[in-house]
Amino acid sequence: MTLNDSRLLIVGAGLMGAGIAQVAAQAGHEVSLFDARAGAAAAAKAKLAQTLDGLAAKGKLTSEAAAATLARITPVDTLVSADVVIEAIVEDLDVKRALFAELEALLPSDAVIATNTSSISVTALARGMQHPERLVGMHFFNPVPLMKLVEVVSGLGTSPDVAQAVFDLAGRWGKTAVHARSTPGFIVNRIARPYYAEALMLLQERAAAPEVIDACLRAAGFRMGPCELMDLIGHDTNFAVTNSVFAANFFDRRFTPSLVQQELVDAGFLGRKSGRGFYRYP
Ligand code: NAD
Repeated sequence: MTLNDSRLLIVGAGLMGAGIAQVAAQAGHEVSLFDARAGAAAAAKAKLAQTLDGLAAKGKLTSEAAAATLARITPVDTLVSADVVIEAIVEDLDVKRALFAELEALLPSDAVIATNTSSISVTALARGMQHPERLVGMHFFNPVPLMKLVEVVSGLGTSPDVAQAVFDLAGRWGKTAVHARSTPGFIVNRIARPYYAEALMLLQERAAAPEVIDACLRAAGFRMGPCELMDLIGHDTNFAVTNSVFAANFFDRRFTPSLVQQELVDAGFLGRKSGRGFYRYP
């Protein structure tokens, strides 16, 4: 199947949606960017302007390429029709399903919907869709412009042609795609859960401070320690992913969510994006 990718819509202009918009526009796509929060898509574009200026100043991009990339991103204040939609909204099954219903009323029947969910079953997300075969996981990693990996996740109803088309699209964007079946947490988040969980356990036991835990893991060869990584991901998102993987594994104790993270979420200390998590950010 050749993917008709002439009109691209990204829904959700947060951390991930903005990063995906940048990568898609850098690859030459015209991108519409929508967010349910008024002004969020325009704000994401303004932030991207700074990022692209920074890349141009460092010589990583010509200033013409930076300007052309930015010009390809159009914030929109309603959902618009498209050939490919990439969804990067809140990690919540019901909210995502409601969005897909709205989208299906707008989209041509052969349009593809790719979800950037970190952990929710693609099979379950597709339930109730008119065309479940068109839903596929396209799981990017944070920060999207820097992280090469994309997990292309197939649910029970996903068309193999759709999965392959999205796999090829990721390749054209310079990403390294892998196919995965929709199992709880897919591949990376399944293996990474204990990395976060043990760090949270150490914090709960008051065994060591976040900076000590992070310094140890960095010294052991990890690029980021677990606490700074959770701050980067966002505690609201990371906690939602843990809850989803825990439930999907029939409440297997190995995946038990942590009260430490619950408290950070309750306090609104969501990490870098809110200015405070384990650490403070100016
Ligand atoms: P975020 O909180 O930064 O952004 C989410 C955005 O979605 C917000 O701007 C919010 O206003 C918007 N939104 C919420 N409901 C909406 C709706 N119904 N319609 C349109 N917009 C809506 O979150 P994020 O970190 O960008 O995560 C987005 C998705 O990507 C989640 O599914 C998450 O699991 C996944 N993901 C996150 C990471 C990460 O490291 N943060 C990595 C991979 C995948």
